[in-house]
Amino acid sequence: MEWLGLHFITELPQSGLVILDCSHDPLLVLLAYVVACVGSFATLHMVERVGHAEKPGAQLLWRWVGAGCLAGGIWAMHFIGMLAFQAPVETHYELSVALLSLLIALLASWLLMHTLSHPGPSFWQCLKASIWIGLGIAAMHYVGMTALHSSAVVYYRPALFALSIVIAIGASLAALLISSHLREGTGLFHQLLKYSAGLVLGAGIVSMHFTGMAALNLVLPIDSLQVPPSENNHLQLGLTVAIMTLLIIGSSISAALADKKLQHKERDLQRVNALLSQLDQARMSLQQVAHYDALTNLINRRGFNQIFAERLIEKTHEGGMLAVLFLDIDHFKRINDSLGHDAGDELLKVLASHIKSSVRSHEDVVARLGGDEFCLLISLQDREEARHMAQRILVKMKEPIELAGRRVVMTTSIGISVFPEDGKTCEELLKNADLALYQSKGSGRNGLHFFNTTLKTRATLELQLEEELRHALRENTGLMLYYQPIYDLKTGQVSKLEALIRWQHPVHGLLAPDRFIGIAEANGLIAELDNWVLRKACEDLGELSRQGCEELKIAVNCSPLNLGREELADEIEQALRISGVAPQRLELEVTENALMDNITNTLVLLRQIRALGVSLSIDDFGTGYSSLAYLKRLPLNTLKIDRSFIQDIPMATQDMEIVQAIIVMAHTLHLQVVTEGVETFEQYEFLERHGCDFVQGYLLSRPVPLAELRPVLNEINQRKHSCTVSSLSLARGTSALMSTDLFPGIPGSHAVASIVRPVH
Ligand code: C2E
Ligand code: CA
Ligand code: CA
Repeated sequence: MEWLGLHFITELPQSGLVILDCSHDPLLVLLAYVVACVGSFATLHMVERVGHAEKPGAQLLWRWVGAGCLAGGIWAMHFIGMLAFQAPVETHYELSVALLSLLIALLASWLLMHTLSHPGPSFWQCLKASIWIGLGIAAMHYVGMTALHSSAVVYYRPALFALSIVIAIGASLAALLISSHLREGTGLFHQLLKYSAGLVLGAGIVSMHFTGMAALNLVLPIDSLQVPPSENNHLQLGLTVAIMTLLIIGSSISAALADKKLQHKERDLQRVNALLSQLDQARMSLQQVAHYDALTNLINRRGFNQIFAERLIEKTHEGGMLAVLFLDIDHFKRINDSLGHDAGDELLKVLASHIKSSVRSHEDVVARLGGDEFCLLISLQDREEARHMAQRILVKMKEPIELAGRRVVMTTSIGISVFPEDGKTCEELLKNADLALYQSKGSGRNGLHFFNTTLKTRATLELQLEEELRHALRENTGLMLYYQPIYDLKTGQVSKLEALIRWQHPVHGLLAPDRFIGIAEANGLIAELDNWVLRKACEDLGELSRQGCEELKIAVNCSPLNLGREELADEIEQALRISGVAPQRLELEVTENALMDNITNTLVLLRQIRALGVSLSIDDFGTGYSSLAYLKRLPLNTLKIDRSFIQDIPMATQDMEIVQAIIVMAHTLHLQVVTEGVETFEQYEFLERHGCDFVQGYLLSRPVPLAELRPVLNEINQRKHSCTVSSLSLARGTSALMSTDLFPGIPGSHAVASIVRPVH
């Protein structure tokens, strides 16, 4: 250790030297301890700050401040400790060396702060670092000691020397372990722990110093003169250094505290900001939910109403026109029923984007009002603009769409109302556009209609009719059944009657079903109405049985909407039970589209009805879109060929071929065939020739009320004989003869009116 300027007592010559008696000023020792404690405490505080700082720059700053506090604390303690040292020789210190020791202290302290800047260092990491730090502190101490100059030579006791280094390492290890535990945590206990740790660390540092000092021996040759040291100002100097150090450390702590407060404030501010933006987001998403349709991302009804009201106010004040376009996708339900709701949703999205792409600018509003209903609001200069827009949409909507592995083509119906002509308020304009839409649907769909006042009159009339129909059903007044005979071509007898509803209206007279069935269907009255027909028909059949017509069957029409009701089978059973009529005498007529629209649900219901013994007939066959595969699966008995295939016979050869084909197909499926709407003898003859089982139409009789039915039936049945004759005549090809035999009074083959009854 000679090179370090260190001499150990073991190297001391045996004689000729004297070890000086040295002591320490207790006041300055205490001061040194205070400074060491404050330095330690400040360091622990800075470690905490480093842990809480978010920005790397701030972390580095607090690491340096911490290192400065510790280095300053240790060095000042060392300096004051040196001042406390009292030797019987003249001593002085070399400043440059003292400053070098300060640098070493700074390095050791930086190393400590650096080790602690990694969150949660392991024990071994701490131990490794503390060896270096301890050695650094010891180096600072012993380098600092070389600044001490006197006539005496410095000798160290090796054991105490080594102990001082061990204490330096131990104090460093304690500092590292305590600091890494004190990084997190708040509250009074945490603060107390921090203060106690500061005291312990201070004690460690001071112990190291004074152990080092205890290791020191000043040696003088025995003959040298011991000059008592002159009066010194060590206490004054020590106090000055201590105060300065404490001031610097104190201001560092205050800066750290201020930073902590600032950081808390910043965090609070951030939290408030985050809360505010969350609130903002919540408000936005609430608005999105409230005003937008989740499926298509278009505005919903609520959002539309709001914008509509705003635009209306704008146009009322500034002038200008607005058009409301009400859109309804034709037969959308079929997609849902056949391809499923997911496909339906997918289709709605595509259609929504088609509509969006057809509008002119973001000024035009596109909304989905629910289901397959869309609405557009556009500003315009003249009505024709609305027509062009609607036409553009009609074309766009017809583009084929790939859906669930299929290509589907959809069409749309549009109703338009224009502000200010067609209404001044949102409700009025929407209602009128809806009326125009209704008109579009009524006239074959896939088209557009503008609102006009006749529509309104009709709507008002319908509203009134709806109320009156409700009343008629409730009071059982006005509604009545007419019966139209269905003639069996094989037996030449009327074997069935079709029950057809009529309404004897107090003002409008006798109303046909097409005037009120639609109203009943649209307003939830159809179930009640059809149930009334069912009961009445069964009751009338009972009455007919009592009059001797035990073989007659009655066919009752069933609305497509009723096929979706599970109660239908029970209602039929109840009607049969009350009237005491055999189920085999009742037939239910359901239209082709009603069957196909919801085949799976319908199938269950139809099987229940068949299980009762009631027959099933498919009505208006040929007008819908039956699939043969389904037709085979349905528990049907009869197929009724629609009037539209018959009306142009014998002119329309194609129709004749279709009718023939339907008869063959129906017979293959073991279904009996009724042809309705037979008005001419040629039609009758054609059907008989091609094996049709039954005919129904004005040629035989128009529908008649029950009271007038008997004579009609008698008259038709009495012709049985002549019918046989006519069949023979037919075989001979004498149709003119037959026409007068079977239907006397009908001029030629174009007889339209029944010969037996006045027209109803
Ligand atoms: P539909 O079931 O096809 O009934 C046949 C319609 O054709 C009846 O009209 C009948 O009077 C008419 N008709 C019969 N023979 C001829 C003919 O030779 N020439 C012409 N031009 N027409 C003929 P109606 O009674 O006006 O009934 C119309 C539709 O109203 C019915 O069509 C049926 O779908 C519905 N309907 C009638 N009664 C009821 C009912 O009680 N419930 C339900 N849901 N619908 C009913
Ligand atoms: Ca029918
Ligand atoms: Ca029919």
